[in-house]
Amino acid sequence: METCLFCRIATRELPGKIVYEDDQSVAFEDIHPKAPVHILIIPRRHLPTLLEAGQADDRLLGHLLLVANQIARQKGIAERGFRLVLNCNDEGGQAVYHLHLHLLGGRVQRWQTG
Ligand code: 5GP
Ligand code: ZN
Repeated sequence: METCLFCRIATRELPGKIVYEDDQSVAFEDIHPKAPVHILIIPRRHLPTLLEAGQADDRLLGHLLLVANQIARQKGIAERGFRLVLNCNDEGGQAVYHLHLHLLGGRVQRWQTG
């Protein structure tokens, strides 16, 4: 989707601090970090939310988790610990409608509701 913010970051049409990429995924720093390490991991393919993913995407979804594993190690937060977040739709707090994982680390993560 040409108008999608994250698609345009992935293709470098818009600037982004890309920390990792491969044929299926791209990861870049969140512009408003909520933790010392805050990376967004996205599939290259435009999927608006998790709900558009189907059985054929099972490898892709697994791949995104393994990318998180790799980046957490690279960023030095693997041992101390980190959090992965996936927001879906309005009440889930999703603001950008291109499926993404938030990788958060570098400080103690407290569980927050609301
Ligand atoms: P969501 O609320 O959809 O789960 O998360 C969207 C995330 O995208 C937010 O954490 C927000 O800070 C981040 N974001 C919004 N616009 C941009 C942008 O232009 N560049 C980058 N790198 N991150 C963005
Ligand atoms: Zn997109």
